[in-house]
Amino acid sequence: MINAVDHIGIAVADLEESMGLYKTIFGVTEFHREKVEEQGVDIASFTLNGVRIELTASLNEDSPIASFIAKRGEGIHHIAFRTDTLTDDLQRLASNDIRLINSEPQLGAHDMLISFLHPKSTGGVLMELCSEKQ
Ligand code: ZN
Repeated sequence: MINAVDHIGIAVADLEESMGLYKTIFGVTEFHREKVEEQGVDIASFTLNGVRIELTASLNEDSPIASFIAKRGEGIHHIAFRTDTLTDDLQRLASNDIRLINSEPQLGAHDMLISFLHPKSTGGVLMELCSEKQ
C-alpha cells in the first residue's frame, strides 16, 4: 500500500550552493550526503517532520537530473511516496495504463528500492514509489 510522502526531490545545479541556501532558510545544520552511481546523482538531504527534502545534483552530463536542469532549470523534480508493496503496486499501475519509467525497482538513495512513474500518465508530476529493501 502506498501510505506516505517519503521525500521531495529538488534538482539543483550546485549542491554546495544549495546546501548553503537551505541552511539559510531552514537552519539545517546536518545533511545526509550520498552519491548514487546507479542514478547518476549526488544527494544532500535533511528531514522535516518525517518528510525528507532531497537536494539532487547530477554526477554526469547523461543523468536525468542534468537533462532536467538543461530543459527546465532548477526546481522541484519529483515527489516520492513510500509503499510496502512496490512490486504489486507496479503491476497494478501498469495494468491501469500508468506508464512506468522503471518497471523493475532500482536501487536509490538510503538503500531504498525505487521506481519512477512517467509524468505523462500522472498529470505532469514525476512520481517515485520507494520501499525498504525486503
Ligand atoms: Zn527520490
